[in-house]
Amino acid sequence: MTPVRALVTGATGQDGSYLVELLLAEGAEVHALVRSGSPGSGEHPLPDAVHQHVGDLTDGRALESLVAEVAPGEIYNLGGISSVALSWQEPGLTAQVSGVAPGHVLKAAHDLQERSGTAVRVVQASSAEIFGAAEQVPQTEDTPVAPVTPYGAAKAYAHHLVGVWRARGLHASSCILYNHESPRRPEAFVTRKITAGAARIARGLQDELSLGNLDARRDWGWAPDYVRAMQLAARSDAPGTYVIATGVAHSVRDFVAAAFEAAGVDGWEERVVLDARFARPSDAPVQVGDPRRAGDALGWAPTVGFEEIVARMVRHDLDVVDAGRA
Ligand code: GDP
Repeated sequence: MTPVRALVTGATGQDGSYLVELLLAEGAEVHALVRSGSPGSGEHPLPDAVHQHVGDLTDGRALESLVAEVAPGEIYNLGGISSVALSWQEPGLTAQVSGVAPGHVLKAAHDLQERSGTAVRVVQASSAEIFGAAEQVPQTEDTPVAPVTPYGAAKAYAHHLVGVWRARGLHASSCILYNHESPRRPEAFVTRKITAGAARIARGLQDELSLGNLDARRDWGWAPDYVRAMQLAARSDAPGTYVIATGVAHSVRDFVAAAFEAAGVDGWEERVVLDARFARPSDAPVQVGDPRRAGDALGWAPTVGFEEIVARMVRHDLDVVDAGRA
């Protein structure tokens, strides 16, 4: 069988780095869109086997040319602004890279498919943020799209475009990813901020941890599981919308308590302070997804539960501190 040729945007991020490893391990030819210059903080260097193409998500025409030139069988659109917090500061860039850029990728994929007569399978990394503060808990593929953040609004536009192009015959799926974590998460996200903070406190390098809000409830899964879900969506005979989630919500408070316990620190309440700088102008109180469709149609299920995710991240961060890298 000819190996898959895949194009990945956002390949140096948490999900991109796991996806690239997964694709290379099965012998795929992997192409990645990369920014010029060296990887920024929180970015992961690409393995040598990856074909790198320098470009920018804000350059739509260049994106279209790249798709035409590489002629991939699978496209994973993971690029964009991944931080909800940053989207409030950068509304234009957020719209451009998380909303407009996917439109160019989809159009180019459809053009390629028409030209070649071969299916081009596109997976859009969508987000629970498209549902905003949904009244329906847990959310499903039928929950109304009603974002409450600039990030969610940009992702909602891209999500709708996937439907537009699927209706025109493109094998395009939108995977609505709930929060998914790993030791590769940057500290801009609350989970890694907590596990890195707990590890530094455990080793006496830090006294306290400042957080914005302890009450938000999120459905936290294991990032490599979510990457596998996107691959299953690309390979499925049923392109569509898939909620990728664990179905279980925990509060930020739960995460803090589990992380401090895993780090061997008693009395987390004395160590955590609330700081308005980290609170969001608008924040869904609870996000939890129902992954049944992904289970039935893709055969997908999460393999790592909440406690184990926390334990793995804390263990990693204790190792980082002990190796003198923090
Ligand atoms: P997001 O869902 O993609 O924005 O992922 P985050 O990990 O950044 O945020 C998850 C939840 O944690 C949101 O409800 C945040 O408002 C909440 N949160 C509470 N305190 C903090 C904090 O200090 N930093 C961040 N990043 N999030 C926080």
